[in-house]
Amino acid sequence: MLHPYPHAPRDGALAEPCRAPRLIVVSPHLDDAVLGCGGLLAMCPGSVVCTVFAGEPSAPVQAKWDTASGFADSHEAIRARRREDARALALCGARPLWLDFLDAQYARYGAMPRVEAIADALAEQFARFEGYLPVCPFGLWHSDHVLVGAACRSLLRTRRLARYFAYEDAIYRAIPRVLHESFARLEADRLRASAMSAQAFGRRSARQIGAVKRRAIRAYQSQMRAFGHVPPDVERAEHYWRVERWPSSMEREAATRAPSGLF
Ligand SMILES: [Zn+2]
Repeated sequence: MLHPYPHAPRDGALAEPCRAPRLIVVSPHLDDAVLGCGGLLAMCPGSVVCTVFAGEPSAPVQAKWDTASGFADSHEAIRARRREDARALALCGARPLWLDFLDAQYARYGAMPRVEAIADALAEQFARFEGYLPVCPFGLWHSDHVLVGAACRSLLRTRRLARYFAYEDAIYRAIPRVLHESFARLEADRLRASAMSAQAFGRRSARQIGAVKRRAIRAYQSQMRAFGHVPPDVERAEHYWRVERWPSSMEREAATRAPSGLF
């Protein structure tokens, strides 16, 4: 039998068919999706992770974070980090998709990415993976995360997406008040967030999911080296939110007539 997902593990741990939805998860950097929602990915095999800042400067440069990660230059860093990403996602039963935007550490070596350019690129991928549930980070902290969060909200405001599911950016969510500020940003954009239960996405055991996530995190060897340890926040429970526009009175009326689905 042909294996349904090219990168999925073949040991059977996550390969059996299940009714979980497939997701297209937006990741600012090459690790954020697994750090923030690796458990969710492991519950939904066959998903795709689209990393926004996976681009490489046209000529190799030396940047501080790459050096702390153990790389000689950006060329070596991006290639190795893409390999780590593919391996980590394979452990979760997911596959990678890499966009070419340059992350903040390379900002002076290329054009600064604009929110709308990121939104357009994401809209293209969401259209390509029609039927996959869109999952985005809140974009809590760090200029790259904030840009991605703004691009995702822009897709709702401009009605290119009806709704998405948000995960909390790992590590940054531990900074006091950032989650609260993120809800204020949603409100300012006339968007609302409702908490979702992890059970809505699948019923795999928390122990099995936790073990898969821990293995996947360790696959980002260079990043753990730069952090100096596995950040404790990544061990905390994941939380997901449904984010959508506040409905207009007409939409509210239509919703009362239509049967409501889980997603
Ligand atoms: Zn990041």
